[in-house]
Amino acid sequence: MKVPTRSVLLTLVTLLLAGCYEVPVTGRRAMNLVDDKEVTKMSIGMFDDMKRRYKISRDRDRIEQLQRVGNRLSKVVFWDMPDADWEFVVFDVPQINAFAMAGGKVGVFSGLFKIARNDDQLALVIAHEIAHVTAKHVHEKLSRELAVSTVGTVGSLGGMAGGVSGLTVSALSQVYGLTTGISGFAFDRAKEKEADYVGLMYMARAGYDPQEAIRVIEALELESANDPVQPAILSTHPSHPERILQLMDSMPKAMAEREKSAIRTGPTLIK
Ligand SMILES: [Zn+2]
Repeated sequence: MKVPTRSVLLTLVTLLLAGCYEVPVTGRRAMNLVDDKEVTKMSIGMFDDMKRRYKISRDRDRIEQLQRVGNRLSKVVFWDMPDADWEFVVFDVPQINAFAMAGGKVGVFSGLFKIARNDDQLALVIAHEIAHVTAKHVHEKLSRELAVSTVGTVGSLGGMAGGVSGLTVSALSQVYGLTTGISGFAFDRAKEKEADYVGLMYMARAGYDPQEAIRVIEALELESANDPVQPAILSTHPSHPERILQLMDSMPKAMAEREKSAIRTGPTLIK
């Protein structure tokens, strides 16, 4: 076996140090080999493209509700996403879905409002999607794919230090799960659970009632049981009992976070 040269080792060490980040809230260390700015730039372009391709809702109540919830959440996640130029758009699409992208671009399909019945419930769904972004799940997935594709060509890793040349719009849209039209993001279960947990803490910190998280997840599951076509946001998510159990486990912590919240709104009234 060929002994790696000093410079190759140095490159690897530099990459590992530079390519590591800490997931907000959970503190998990994860790998990132892609250029944040490049991902953000491409994501913004993809979001603009979606705004051109899909009908944008004119329902004032829904638009206002999304803005209201989105603004409150964006304040809470400020330090986890300081570069965000927030934009919250309701798409007139009957599908039950929502997504968030790097750069602070959030889309909600009108179908979701059938399920998310109040601000607290909508907050959980949006916070879950934002958590995927602040946790850099897209970056992590891309980094893994790139690391695998560069195995054996250690020399090319040197070129990745200043940004990955292999990062393309098509690779990014695949990771976002947008290649087959609008569908849910295909993250693995561990990442979905992480987004559930981080999202729950975000919504609690924004003063929303964490108990509503369980109600909206239950409603989503019920809908998916009645509907032969799985709502996209559920298709890759952990199964119902697993999600609910994790949310219940995290409830005392979420309630404490809400208690500390400066923008607490008081108990949720029965709607
Ligand atoms: Zn998810």
